[in-house]
Amino acid sequence: MKGIGQASAELAERYFALFVNRLAYTLQSHTPGANGKHYYYRPKQDRRLSLQTICEHLNGQLTAGLYALNPKTQRSKWVAIDADYENALEDLLKLQWELRQDGLEAGLEKSRRGAHLWIFAEKPLLARHCRIYIYNLARRLKVPVKGGSGLAEGIEVFPRQDQLGPDEFGNAIRGPLGIHRATGRRYWFYGADYRLDAQLDYLERLRKITESEIGRFINGLEMPEEFRPKPKVELPPYDPTRPQFRILDHVRPTSKRGGNYWARCPSCANHGRDRSGDNLAISVSDSRKYKCWAGCTKEMIRAAVGHPIRVRRQVEYGISAHDAQ
Ligand SMILES: [Zn+2]
Repeated sequence: MKGIGQASAELAERYFALFVNRLAYTLQSHTPGANGKHYYYRPKQDRRLSLQTICEHLNGQLTAGLYALNPKTQRSKWVAIDADYENALEDLLKLQWELRQDGLEAGLEKSRRGAHLWIFAEKPLLARHCRIYIYNLARRLKVPVKGGSGLAEGIEVFPRQDQLGPDEFGNAIRGPLGIHRATGRRYWFYGADYRLDAQLDYLERLRKITESEIGRFINGLEMPEEFRPKPKVELPPYDPTRPQFRILDHVRPTSKRGGNYWARCPSCANHGRDRSGDNLAISVSDSRKYKCWAGCTKEMIRAAVGHPIRVRRQVEYGISAHDAQ
């Protein structure tokens, strides 16, 4: 097929202009982990995204993940909405149609289990504005958002943060038009021929959102309460004499990676999910910190193992949840 194995520097430059917010990036592993997933990691060499890397991504030699947010500006060139649950496509089409009512054209890209909806900005927009816009849109359309009100399934919005510290990266999403390592497949945008040049033509033609437009769209709106960032709180020092809930008494880790044990999330398990048994991350250094990456809340996890949290005291500790009981 044309377009494979022959991405030119010119295509790479156009891709760069559309998608690259910062030079840090991730790579998808060529070999799966123990549970069959192809994880993303930050490269040890060639740490800055170059046109060469983009060419190799488009040619399928490597698969790059792209960060949504540049911490120098707290801005992004795009918003990507990731959805991979049942009815995900229907929800993305609803969002795409509603965006259209605001005069915006969003590109729908297939993915392994669902799709990604991409909205491009004429010039990079504040992540905070993009997020207020999309979260309110989702709420209006009753599209579920992962993590909101304890929902384990729903859309995920990139940028995932309003802002980042100077040394933070936030979350990366698989760069479009590359080849997914797990399936060996390329996932295309629906709106154009399945060739790299035609796809880039199409994306460049999409009507982009401007700063003044988004200012108008979010006028008077705020981030819905349940999605506002939680304050970070320092954990008290570990006291072995205090009786504590210990998650490791209730789950058996399936692996150990990146400073965490990984186990099947009990709350996911109750819903027949997390078959691969690695939704729950438990910090190796402090097992009071644990988190379900599918979005189950600590309350849901504690209830699932028969130890519901008695005192309603919900505190989130950065990426980790903890019970100070
Ligand atoms: Zn879970």
